[in-house]
Amino acid sequence: MAFEEKVLVIDDSAIVLEMIERTIGDIVEVITASTGKAGLVKLLEHKPTLVLLDVKLPDIDGMKVCKAIKADNRTKHVPVLLITGEETDADAEAAAFATGAADFIRKPMHPAVVRARVKLQLELEMRAHALNAVNIELQRLASTDMLTGCLNRNYFINSADAELSRMKRHDFAVCVAILDLDHFKNVNDSFGHAAGDEVLRLAAACMKDAVRHEDTVGRLGGEEFAILLPVADAGGALIVLERLRERLSELRYQGTRPDYSVTTSIGLAEVYHRDLKIEDALQRADEALYRAKREGRNRICVANT
Ligand code: GH3
Ligand code: MG
Ligand code: MG
Repeated sequence: MAFEEKVLVIDDSAIVLEMIERTIGDIVEVITASTGKAGLVKLLEHKPTLVLLDVKLPDIDGMKVCKAIKADNRTKHVPVLLITGEETDADAEAAAFATGAADFIRKPMHPAVVRARVKLQLELEMRAHALNAVNIELQRLASTDMLTGCLNRNYFINSADAELSRMKRHDFAVCVAILDLDHFKNVNDSFGHAAGDEVLRLAAACMKDAVRHEDTVGRLGGEEFAILLPVADAGGALIVLERLRERLSELRYQGTRPDYSVTTSIGLAEVYHRDLKIEDALQRADEALYRAKREGRNRICVANT
């Protein structure tokens, strides 16, 4: 029978291991180890969802094994159920929790209690995973522009600000560009809003495709995009953006005419150490963009220092 979830049981008693396997073997795959050392090896090897850990082991003290699990970044998220001795008093219970254990089961173990405790921990883990997946999705939705899949304005600015701080710490060049589609209003006016949306989607895809892996594309709003190019001075950024400008002008769009094309004007600015926020550099890029518009569009202008 194949299970996705695994429970690792670390106990030196063959009777205990056999009882636990019999008790929960129908709901989860059970891996066993009879020493602390073997348990730690199997933990890394099998990546179980839950660990049942005897406090009295022949080699390493179970409490120490639990502390080791909780101290290791690779394993600290795995909940540990400590199997404590009959003589466990409130102090020993508190000590068990202090090691980072999620809960404990007292010996002599009652199968129904083992099953209930294991099921509860597996349920909690399942909920934590589901919540984590929802959080990741929420984060994605909050950071993404729905039409183009680019970062939205807020997240672009936030990540660019983080990059500005990194640049100041590590001293590498960063450039930022603003790209604005030329006479975009005409697309909507001539072919309708759906065709306009298609142009935005394809143009954004082209931008993401043309830049390097470390570059970030954001949609600032409407038909205005921004690209952050870390580790690129104005010369390097110009090469990337010139290629992109050309590719954008060669795109063709369904819902328009076969020969219809849209060009793009680009303002490029180097980011300086004296910039307090990325908005300072974006402001310079914006001024360069408007120069590009005035000088006839479909071109790149570099900001003055
Ligand atoms: P310029 O060359 O000076 O940039 O002219 P432009 O027409 O591109 O600029 P303008 O700012 O006058 O027009 C932008 C248009 O973009 C107006 C607006 O209706 C349209 N627009 C903004 N967001 C969207 C969108 O999400 N979808 C569509 N289809 N159109 C949009
Ligand atoms: Mg425009
Ligand atoms: Mg505009």
